[in-house]
Amino acid sequence: MDLRRLTKFFAGPSPHLSREDAMKIFKRDKFKCYYCGLDGLRDFESWLILTIDHVHPHSKGGQRSMDNLVTACQPCNLLKGKRVYKSHQEARDYVLAQREQWRQIYRKQVKATQTHSAA
Ligand SMILES: [Zn+2]
Repeated sequence: MDLRRLTKFFAGPSPHLSREDAMKIFKRDKFKCYYCGLDGLRDFESWLILTIDHVHPHSKGGQRSMDNLVTACQPCNLLKGKRVYKSHQEARDYVLAQREQWRQIYRKQVKATQTHSAA
């Protein structure tokens, strides 16, 4: 267990934001992932994985302003990565395409597992 990561986790949904600022974004977005639409108020597990995403990455000079910040679930945040996009829409399209690719890998694996266990 990497204790620095643990500290970061407990410090809030983004290492660059206060809890108060994060809450403003969550409330504006109604606790839904900007990319996939996951509803963070559906259950505890969904709420737990909500993060704040800098659409234009903080590490690439992205601002900490309300219009550069969106609610994102951890998987979408990870899939989006540190790329720079022309617009919010382009970022969303990219993440949704990535999710679709992973969904197909998932389906293949589940199928392979089921075929294997049935044999
Ligand atoms: Zn998501």
